Amino acid sequence: MPSKSYNSDNTMQKILVANRGEIALRVMRTARKMGILTVAVYSEADRLSPHVRYADEAVCIGPPPSSQSYLRGDKIIEAAKALGVDGIHPGYGFLSENASFARAVEDAGIAFIGPSPFSIEIMGSKLAAKAAVKEYDIPMVPGLDEAITDVAKAKEIAREVGFPILIKASAGGGGKGMRIVEEEANFEAQMKRAVSEAESAFGDGSVFLEKYIASPRHIEIQVLADTHGNVVHLFERECSIQRRHQKVIEEAPSSILTPEVRERMGQDTVNVARACNYKGAGTVEFLVDEHLNYYFLEMNTRLQVEHPVTEMITGVDLVKQQIRIARGEPLDFKQEDLQIKGHAMELRVYAEDPNDNFHPSVGKISVYRRPQGKNIRLDDGYEEGLTIPLYYDPMIAKLITFGETRPAAIHTMLEAIEHYEIEGVATTLPFGIFVFHHKAFTSGKFDTHFVKNYFTPEALEKDNRIGAEIAAKLAVRLQENNKKLLKTPGAYPSGWGNGKR
Ligand code: ADP
Repeated sequence: MPSKSYNSDNTMQKILVANRGEIALRVMRTARKMGILTVAVYSEADRLSPHVRYADEAVCIGPPPSSQSYLRGDKIIEAAKALGVDGIHPGYGFLSENASFARAVEDAGIAFIGPSPFSIEIMGSKLAAKAAVKEYDIPMVPGLDEAITDVAKAKEIAREVGFPILIKASAGGGGKGMRIVEEEANFEAQMKRAVSEAESAFGDGSVFLEKYIASPRHIEIQVLADTHGNVVHLFERECSIQRRHQKVIEEAPSSILTPEVRERMGQDTVNVARACNYKGAGTVEFLVDEHLNYYFLEMNTRLQVEHPVTEMITGVDLVKQQIRIARGEPLDFKQEDLQIKGHAMELRVYAEDPNDNFHPSVGKISVYRRPQGKNIRLDDGYEEGLTIPLYYDPMIAKLITFGETRPAAIHTMLEAIEHYEIEGVATTLPFGIFVFHHKAFTSGKFDTHFVKNYFTPEALEKDNRIGAEIAAKLAVRLQENNKKLLKTPGAYPSGWGNGKR
């Protein structure tokens, strides 16, 4: 189903970003570079936010709760129409994977900078997604790829697949809607709970079964597809460092993939995109076991939080490509033009307390000093003196570093963390020091259970003491190098603007 080609004269003069924080800013920066005007929308809690001030125009769309502001597609479209907007970029989260919103945007004669409502719908359901990709022979986690309500039958299938089993909500997302069942005796009770949880959380009680992969790594492949039938992949990102099944640290490339497995996963990803007639930027997620067997998990039909690591190693501005594709332009590179150059790391800097089970630590940022230097990119959405609202995801920034090699990217990351000062709220920066120093991480021998296996507040304290000593040594060394480094902010590859303004 080829999408309508808006702006066949290739103009897109004004883009509204239906999001907030770092991603709104990040999208607007590329738009501005392309000579496109930007419109911000904001809730009453975000009046002073950098994304509001950066935009050429800004519209308040409601009170702080997202249900009254960033999720009000009707108000956003109304604002877009009033201001003569011809493209809406949804960012990630909020309305980005809402097929009805994408449809309403198109019905209003505005380009939705993302895939068609049809692709969003298919991939929005983990089960529909599995069904759609089946004919392409994509490896799946063993289990039952259809919704089941009959507990006795489900138990029988679980026995055949083998315990431990994961019960998943078809409509689940964001790490929610999953239950591990270790042994058969617990199956019935857990399944009943999973169904009722799925009903209350997602309004859809369908669940299915997957074998629980004991020691998996989360590896995903970036894809770009235009409206002329060209589909390319941009290699992998590894996102195995997670808490509550949610990513905190990502890198590209993965330290374990062989060129041969990378090639197969890339090809499978291109096929997944073809299976749902995809257009735009998307990501296919896989679980990879210790023997490098990989299994399709799901496709995310939007820009991912961790997209910068891919940009760093490929030199491709993914937002620019999203906009070009939405304008109906063909991709201006082929698969063979793409290459992995170097290594990139990303730490999500959340206002969360790693000492308190990563609980949100919202409040006022009393001190905020950004690290800068060669090979450091900071995508952030806050400034000193601003308050992190409790209504939204408490991510403050993404700290991204680049190196010729993995150890070099890690080294620069540790330096950058040491020079990043945030006071007033607890953050995941100390957790970053812990991970980037940890042998399991530096040696590449880790899985999605890293936090559960190694992380405790005591270990964090010890590690940050060592971190402080290293920081002192680094500071001396940096002072020697700094004059040169600090004069070239944003000097990372491929002509990127620094994450800061
Ligand atoms: P969500 O849509 O909520 O993000 P995913 O299906 O993408 O859910 O899974 C999120 C994370 O949960 C994965 O990165 C992995 O850590 C864990 N996970 C998911 N499925 C399995 C499985 N079958 N075995 C082991 N871990 C899994």
